[in-house]
Amino acid sequence: QIRVRYAPSPTGHLHIGNARTAIFNYLFARHYKGKFIIRIEDTDTKRNVQDGEVSQLNNLKWLGLDWDEGPDVGGDYGPYRQSERKDTYDPLIQQLLDEGKAYYSYKTEEELEAEREEQRARGVMPHYEYEYAGMTVEERQAAMDAAEAKGLKPVIRFKVPKHKTYEWDDIVKGHVSFDSDTIGGDFVIVKRDGMPTYNFAVVADDHNMQISHIFRGDDHVANTPKQLMIYEAFGWEPPKFGHMSLIISADTGKKLSKRDETVLQFIEQYRNLGYLPDAMFNFIVLLGWSPVGEDEIYSEKQFIKMYDEKRLSKSPATFDNKKLEWINNRYVKDGDEDVIVDLALQQLIKAGNLPENPDAKTIEWARKLIDVYRRQMSYMAQINEMAAVFFTKPEQVAGDALAELQNDTAPVVLQTFAQKIQELPIFDKVAILRTIKEVQKETGIKGRKLWMPIRIAVTHEMEGPELPESIELIGRETALQHVHQTLE
Ligand code: GLU
Repeated sequence: QIRVRYAPSPTGHLHIGNARTAIFNYLFARHYKGKFIIRIEDTDTKRNVQDGEVSQLNNLKWLGLDWDEGPDVGGDYGPYRQSERKDTYDPLIQQLLDEGKAYYSYKTEEELEAEREEQRARGVMPHYEYEYAGMTVEERQAAMDAAEAKGLKPVIRFKVPKHKTYEWDDIVKGHVSFDSDTIGGDFVIVKRDGMPTYNFAVVADDHNMQISHIFRGDDHVANTPKQLMIYEAFGWEPPKFGHMSLIISADTGKKLSKRDETVLQFIEQYRNLGYLPDAMFNFIVLLGWSPVGEDEIYSEKQFIKMYDEKRLSKSPATFDNKKLEWINNRYVKDGDEDVIVDLALQQLIKAGNLPENPDAKTIEWARKLIDVYRRQMSYMAQINEMAAVFFTKPEQVAGDALAELQNDTAPVVLQTFAQKIQELPIFDKVAILRTIKEVQKETGIKGRKLWMPIRIAVTHEMEGPELPESIELIGRETALQHVHQTLE
């Protein structure tokens, strides 16, 4: 049976790269009707942040993912947090110790650093050197006892087989192989605090949870030979691996770095700005995977149906903000009106442009406003800037706009317009358009000399959305007030 997992370390919010890993595992599971599992890798207690887990899961749900097993939903292979699985690791570690495949190591950090320094000076790659080399069993025991007597705390290291090749057929990268002598020597599998390291826990868990395939970032390729050694030490069958290409920033051409603050990289940030989850999902799938054909807009359901892991790209994926905006714009344009209005309302409220609990009339008004800008928006927070003219207090009209108003014929246009809109039984864009045409007929003034004075007097701007629509949104009272101010 196909069982895949997404295994976040709760060291922060959900990053775009992690979301991508989760999504590719999810699509693979759903396409093949397998299981998608979430496992929290929280053994590095120093790096865990509060809410890290909750926030990760929350953002995955927001993107539309669900899972069959996990810390919040349980399952037959739990617990789903590594910090709660120590009981399952300890006997396995003991087995490796008993079989001589792992050993206690008492070298201090200072000693190790000095050793590396010395290796560098000799021009060799820094690597761990076995501290009991050439000793008899008794001598070794004596060395360990002496270290214990000094109060030193050991780590447990895995004894890396020498001169061996570790290789696998990577689903994405093709054949990959490592020489065991190049991986830095015997690596730590249990830290001084008694917690297993990532490379050990991941193998124990993936085996015990019967994971069949692992899709993860390219940054883990160098861990895979170490993990294969552990599978081998236990005589377990390893899962299939697929290491997904890096994500490169379109702006810098470099690997997307969490430290680069010019690019938003956390799902939370996009969510806060009012991006649409379906659009984000769509965008992320295209980071390193491509459908057959030219079209790029697909729903989650369609992606699940057509997903094919053979179409994961070997070459780096480009994170292009323009594409993200384009895709989001498509979803905003085509999205369900109530959903769009609701999200845009939240942004208007957050920016203080609408009251905390808008009444029905305000919501009706906002609905029209949102409709005016909807086709231009990529994300909902943009409405605040786009529609600023409807929220900012009237300022003095100046410059070119003022010159338009100083036109000889402006007063008669404005007077006629003001008088007519005062009398309108229904104040909407249709009636307003009709009124402007009536002003034209009555005054004989048309074109720019007709439209500009009205636009500037009412909106205080020389450009904006369709004039009748703008005037309707500004409302009769304010429109009249602005026109009268201009005429004074
Ligand atoms: N906890 C690891 C990470 O966040 C998971 C790596 C893996 O999938 O094996 O990178």
